[in-house]
Amino acid sequence: MADKPHQNLAVIGHVDHGKSTMVGRLLFETGSVPEHVIEQHREEAEEKGKGGFEFAYVMDNLAEERERGVTIDIAHQEFDTDSYYFTIVDCPGHRDFVKNMITGASQADNAVLVVAADDGVAPQTREHVFLARTLGIDELIIAVNKMDLVDYKEDSYNDVKEQVQKLLKQVRFRADDATFVPTSAFEGDNVSEASDNTPWYSGPTLLEALNDLPEPQTPTDAPLRLPIQDVYTISGIGTVPVGRVETGILEIGANVSFQPSDVGGEVKTVEMHHEEVPKAEPGDNVGFNVRGIGKDDIRRGDVCGPADDPPTVAETFQAQIVVMQHPSVITAGYTPVFHAHTSQVACTIESIDAKLDPASGEVAEENPDFIQSGDAAKVTIRPQKPLSIEPASEIPELGSFAIRDMGQTIAAGQVLSVDE
Ligand code: GDP
Repeated sequence: MADKPHQNLAVIGHVDHGKSTMVGRLLFETGSVPEHVIEQHREEAEEKGKGGFEFAYVMDNLAEERERGVTIDIAHQEFDTDSYYFTIVDCPGHRDFVKNMITGASQADNAVLVVAADDGVAPQTREHVFLARTLGIDELIIAVNKMDLVDYKEDSYNDVKEQVQKLLKQVRFRADDATFVPTSAFEGDNVSEASDNTPWYSGPTLLEALNDLPEPQTPTDAPLRLPIQDVYTISGIGTVPVGRVETGILEIGANVSFQPSDVGGEVKTVEMHHEEVPKAEPGDNVGFNVRGIGKDDIRRGDVCGPADDPPTVAETFQAQIVVMQHPSVITAGYTPVFHAHTSQVACTIESIDAKLDPASGEVAEENPDFIQSGDAAKVTIRPQKPLSIEPASEIPELGSFAIRDMGQTIAAGQVLSVDE
C-alpha cells in the first residue's frame, strides 16, 4: 500500500440524499466491493437464475452489513483511483456519524458533500458543512445527486449549486474552489463515466474530481501521537495496544510514553495487517508491544508519544466551540462528556470567556452569561479526569473534540491552548 498516497474521505450530507448509495456506487465502479459480497451475490444470482452483477445486490449487501454493524468504525471501506487510495472514514448513516467525524479513529482529509437535486440544501447539509469547516477539512467536492429525479435539468443543478455556494460563503469555505458534479448515485451518471444525460456539463466525473484532489500533507515532522483504541493480550507476544498513528513515526527500539497513564518503555514489535513491520507512519493502524507494559498499565484513551516529547496532559484548556444543538442554554459549571481522539472524559466548562461572531470568529461579547444553539464561543475547560489533548495549532489531529450529552452531539470544538 505504499505506491500511492492515502486519502481519508468523509461522505457527508443530509439523511436520504444518497450518501450510502454513492459509497456503494464508488466501490462498485472501482471494483472495490468486498470479495465476500461478490461471492454472496454470485450464489444468489445463480439461485434466482439472474445474470449480471447487479448494483442493487451490492447495495443490499452493504445495507445488511451496516445493520449488523460490521463495517462501522473498524473495517473502513476502501477504493482507489490512479492517484490515491481512498478510505471512507465513517459509514454514512451511522448514528454517531457526526461524533465520529470529529473524534473518529481517522480524521478526514477531504469530503464529498452529497446534496439531492430534488431537495437542495437541508438542515444536515448545513450542519455537516459547518463541521467540515470547523474541523479543517481542506477540499469539498459537491455531488448534486439524484439528477435523474429532476430530469437531468441544468436549471435544477444550477439552483442547488447556487444554494450550496451561498452556504459555503456563509461558513467561509473557499466557495470558488469547490468542485460541483451533477450525479445520480442510483443510475451511475457522472460517477466514473461522463453521462449522456447531462450534455450541458463538461466538468469532471466524481472519480476524476477525487483523483484530482491535492495530496494531503502527512504530518511526519510532528512528534509521534498514537491514541490507544484498545488493549489486547496476545499469547506469545504479551500486551498489545492498538490504535492509529495520527502523527510522527512509531519505530522498533524507540522509547515511548503513554499519557495520562504515565508509563513507558521500549517498543519491541510493531504489527500492521497481521505482519511485523519495522515502523509505522501517520494513517497506519497498528498493534505494538512495549517492554515492561502490562494490560493494566494502560487503557483506551491514552496517547502514546516519544518519551522525550510526551503527549500533553491538560489540567485545564482553552477552546473554541460551536454549539450545534442544545435544548436550553449552556452556562459555566456545565459538565458534559467530551470525546477527544479515543478518550471520553467528563469535563466542566469552567468559564465562558467570549461569544464569537460565527462568521468572522471575532469577539462579539466578553464573558457572556450563557451560550446556546448556533453560538460560537471561547471557553475554559477542566477535565474531571486526566485527559491528553493538544493545541490544534500544534497537532490538529489531537486538537479537536465533540461534546456529547443526552445521547447527541451538542457541540464541537478545537483546543486553543493547554495548561499542564
Ligand atoms: P443516505 O441517508 O444519505 O445514506 O441516503 P441513501 O443512500 O440511503 O439513499 C436514500 C434513498 O435515496 C434510497 O432509497 C436510495 O435508493 C435513493 N437514492 C440515492 N441516490 C439516488 C439517486 O441518485 N437517484 C434516485 N432516484 N434515488 C437515489
